[in-house]
Formats: sequence, structure tokens, C-alpha cells
Amino acid sequence: MRFTNLTRGAGIGSNCYRLDLPEGTVVLDCGMHPEHVGHDATPMLEELPEGGVRATILTHAHQDHVGCLPLLQSRQHGMPVLMTPGTARIADIMLHNSVNVMMRQQEELKLPDYPLFSHRAIEMAARMWRHCPLERPLSLDGDRAAGDGDATTVSFHDAGHILGSTGVMIRSGGKKFFYTGDVNFEDQTIQTGARFPEEPVDVLLMETTRGDAPVPEGFTRVQEEERFAKAVTEALREGASVTIPVFALGKTQEVMAMLWKMQRERLIPPTPIYVGGLSSKITAVYDTMAAQVSRNLPKLRLMNDVAPYVAGGAEIQSLNPRKCAVYALSSGMMTEHTLSNIFAHKVLPDPSQYLFFVGYADPNSPAGRILRATPGSDVQLTEQGAAIPFRCHSQSFTLSAHARREDLLSYAVKVRPKTILLVHGDDPAVEWFKRELEKALPGTKVLAPAPGVTIDL
Ligand SMILES: [Zn+2]
Ligand SMILES: [Zn+2]
Repeated sequence: MRFTNLTRGAGIGSNCYRLDLPEGTVVLDCGMHPEHVGHDATPMLEELPEGGVRATILTHAHQDHVGCLPLLQSRQHGMPVLMTPGTARIADIMLHNSVNVMMRQQEELKLPDYPLFSHRAIEMAARMWRHCPLERPLSLDGDRAAGDGDATTVSFHDAGHILGSTGVMIRSGGKKFFYTGDVNFEDQTIQTGARFPEEPVDVLLMETTRGDAPVPEGFTRVQEEERFAKAVTEALREGASVTIPVFALGKTQEVMAMLWKMQRERLIPPTPIYVGGLSSKITAVYDTMAAQVSRNLPKLRLMNDVAPYVAGGAEIQSLNPRKCAVYALSSGMMTEHTLSNIFAHKVLPDPSQYLFFVGYADPNSPAGRILRATPGSDVQLTEQGAAIPFRCHSQSFTLSAHARREDLLSYAVKVRPKTILLVHGDDPAVEWFKRELEKALPGTKVLAPAPGVTIDL
């Protein structure tokens, strides 16, 4: 078994991993970096032999895990791609949206090779997607239950991160390799916590997103939700609006469900909620698949019960934030040209407005820059435009869709891997895990695999 990290530049970006097994080469995830463009945004796909990949396995449909899949598939004809039905439904929406974004970038940034793939290429690629059930060992082609003749088997396990998200167990040549994908062990408002296998494994490939994010002693999600409800109430009682930058996939639906529950429990006053077009499409999938997946509030239908206002790019320009409402707009990192970035130009300089953060932001993204800025200073929201004065109220809440570092650490200790591969984290996050895991598991090799370097396992 050999492993190569194909994430260009490491960190949280174009997640992609190569695993060479006796039965052939397998690729795990194939993302696009949300903050980069062109070649820099893609994984190191040039390291893969054209037509030489046996199968690709997708953990979930966030852009940093799925964004370059059609690009990989265009060089690997006939290669099956294994994923859950939920991931397939959402990946289709995410990828078509990505083509539209790339077409706009082609015009604005004059990128000659954009879009990197077409709507038609996604349709072709989707024919090779295998819809896989949870917790059932499958053949490497993903089209049947594993049998005695299979040297390699794959099984998916609920990762509790977003709809359809999974960790993946690969058994090959007498070894067990487990990839966490993005995971959350704790219940969110909709998503129930991960259900991962707890048997010992040989190799654990694990995300490290929150390695640099300690939570205060005695922290509970319930108390954090109460703090959030109080802050929202205060803003709405002042007649202000609340802007929450959210990922269109996952965080939007969690925030909508949380606000719905809080309104029903009279923890916050009734308020209109605005979301973007992409978010509403994904929310519709959450509603149609509600009965097929493990989740909380299985009867809640967000598009009907919350009935959000759906705003497109042009409408966002004309919306007035000085109106009592909640704007849950994507993207979560307030990437340039997205709804949350456009809206922030109105919110940030206005001392009567409230801006609440509820998830991870790359330190170099506009949201990351606001989080680091001191109120009163100027913040750069776009590359070219003028810096905007930061005068609105701003608060951060720990309502992450990623596991707490202590939870991931105890999972690793439970499965006692011989080797741990640390990925999907900024340098300080990876360093914290490396230090703590070496202490907790002295016999285990703990590695942070550099991009393009092959490791024998
Ligand atoms: Zn994710
Ligand atoms: Zn991710």
C-alpha cells in the first residue's frame, strides 16, 4: 500500500489523495480550492497516469472535495466513482454551479482555459457515479456487495458533517485503511453525529480542521446556541438585520433549522430569512431526502416550514440591510463575487448592523480578514476595490460542522492505527494533532504528508 497527497499546497483546499493498492490505483476525493483560480485551484492530477486509475471514492460534496472530479474523470474513461446517493444529488448541483462561476471568472479574469469543464462533461461524468449504501462492504467498482473473490473492499460510514457525508474504510491485502473525510462526532441541529467503525486499523487518514481551535472549558453546543439566540434577539429588537455568512451546502440548512427551532421555542422573535439561489437548490435536496437519511427533525421541510426568501445576485444589490431580517448568505468565507461578499459592502460600514460568524474561514479569505481585524479599522473585501471601514457589530459562534480536536483525538486513540496521516488543516492545526497523537499513541507513526511525496505503508 502506498499513499501520495495530491493536494496542491496542502492545507484545506483541493483535497485529493492517491492510494496505490495491489489491485490498482484509487483516488480519494478530488476538490477545488475555493480561494484560488486556474491551475493553483486544482489537485496534482498530472501525477496520475491517464486511464490508469481503478476507482475514485468521494467522501462528500463540498467544493474542496468534489470540485475537480469532472476534470479527473475526463482523463480516466470508464473509471467508476463511488459515493452515497445524497452526495451524488448534491455534487451534481455543486458542479453545475461551479461551471457558471468559472464562466464568469473567464470573462472577468481573462482565464483562457476556463471553464475547466463544461455542463456536458458533468452529465457524461455522472454516468459513472455509483450510488453506494452505508455500512455495506462493496467491490472496488462499487456496483455489487463484496464477495470472497474481492481482494479490495470499500465501505462508507456516516461522517455526521453534512447530508451524504462519509468516512471510508478500504480493506486490501490484509490491511485496513480508514479515511475520515470531514467529520463531526457531535449532533448538529439537523445532522446526527458520525457513526464510525471502532475496530483497530492499520492506517488512519484524518482531517485536522479544528486542531488550532480550542474550545473553552465546559463548552457545550446547547449553551453556544443559547448565546447565539440571545445575540440574534438583541439585534432584531433593535430593528437591525443579522447577516450570517454560510456555506450554501450544510451550514445554510443547519442555520435555517436552528432559527426555525428557536422561533418555535420563542427564543428569538419571528423574522424573515433570506438565502441565495444555490442554497435553496441544495435545501430542496435536504427536504426530498429527509426520509432516506439519518437526521434530526426528520419531518421538517425547510423550504415549506421556514419558507425563506430566495435572493439572486441582482436582488442582493437592491436589498436593504436596515430591515429586520436574517440574511444567511453564501459563501461562508465571503469569497469575492459571492452574495455574502456583495452584501458585506453594505453591512460592514454600518454601525447599526450585525455580522455573525458560525463556521470555519480560511485566514486569507475576506471572512478570515474580518475575523482578525479590529473594529474601526479598514478591511479589504475584494482584491481590487477600496478597503471598507469595519463599523458593524460582529460576533463569532462555535457552531462548526467539524469535530472538536479532542473528539478526533479520542477517535484516533480508539482505533489504534499503526500510521496516522494528517491532512485538511492549516499548519498550526496539523502541528497540534502531531504533538498530541505522538503523546497519546507512542507506538504510532504520525505523519503530515507533503504534496507529491509517496509514502510506503
Ligand atoms: Zn466538508
Ligand atoms: Zn473539507
